[in-house]
Amino acid sequence: MMPADTAPAADACCRCAEASGTCCTLSPGQEEFCFPLSARERADMEAAGAGPEMFFSQANTPAFVDNLCRLFPGEGALLRALFPAGGFHDRLAVALTGECLLLGPEGCRLPREARPYYCRLFPFWMRGGRQMYFEFKECQALRESRGGAGLLKRLGMTETGVFDLYHRLREAWGLTERR
Ligand code: SF4
Ligand code: SF4
Repeated sequence: MMPADTAPAADACCRCAEASGTCCTLSPGQEEFCFPLSARERADMEAAGAGPEMFFSQANTPAFVDNLCRLFPGEGALLRALFPAGGFHDRLAVALTGECLLLGPEGCRLPREARPYYCRLFPFWMRGGRQMYFEFKECQALRESRGGAGLLKRLGMTETGVFDLYHRLREAWGLTERR
């Protein structure tokens, strides 16, 4: 067996798919908290073969918007304008047991470049201009790494790549750029 810090990066997510539900699985009842999909992201997914059954039209519930406000502190007014009460947004469709319908036995069925930005970033995020990561205990890559740099390597990502993806996500979701 290869030492944890020299195994190919993509393997961590494959092992995760074999061992658990991965970050591609929601707890049943938490579906409304799934991140939104922009029209651009949906178009990229459809171009890669995702059919209409892979998407769900989700109401902009107060709990959903509150959750987005926690992801983007200080941007509540803009988020409430983008996701108004009474409106709907696209999200990933999930099975009754919570798995994204695009999740296969070896991970996501979509090529990486066609996956939603949030999926491609996870578990990384940016806060106050600084890179951070979510402490998700089911994350195989997190378990096998010793923090930020090791986690980046494990997932085949770079600091520049995280920064770029995060800002592409903001642009796609309609958030005014703040660098
Ligand atoms: S689109 Fe792919 S990466 Fe994103 S949650 Fe679904 S299976 Fe996972
Ligand atoms: S990013 Fe982490 S939680 Fe998501 S599939 Fe990869 S190893 Fe699993």
